[in-house]
Amino acid sequence: MSDEKTCIRCRETKPASEYRRRPDVMGRLYNRCKTCDAAYLRRWRIDNPGHMSEWRANNPNYHREWRAENRDQENRCQRERRAKNVEKERHRSRACHQRRRARRRSQELAKLENYLNETGNLRQDEASK
Ligand SMILES: [Zn+2]
Repeated sequence: MSDEKTCIRCRETKPASEYRRRPDVMGRLYNRCKTCDAAYLRRWRIDNPGHMSEWRANNPNYHREWRAENRDQENRCQRERRAKNVEKERHRSRACHQRRRARRRSQELAKLENYLNETGNLRQDEASK
């Protein structure tokens, strides 16, 4: 194996250190030098704007692992949020209940007042007769 390699892209003969190692073939180097490879990658990223989703598809566990690491924190947040909501919910329903009861009572009072007025009027009518 020679220490120099000719890049298929720029046709320059460069030392092996200027080539990246192929991860799939042991001891083999890429046919493109690092400079051309970087340019190719940049070009490829522009041509493939969806490569991130592809990367995600190739790394399906990444997000799950991240979540597992952050699960405790996430759970605590959720619990706190829920507790806060329950408190708010309870408060709201209590307020609603009180308001409803107050309204009913005032309606009953109004009804009673009406009744008393009417009977009072009746009595007054009767008395005036
Ligand atoms: Zn090159």
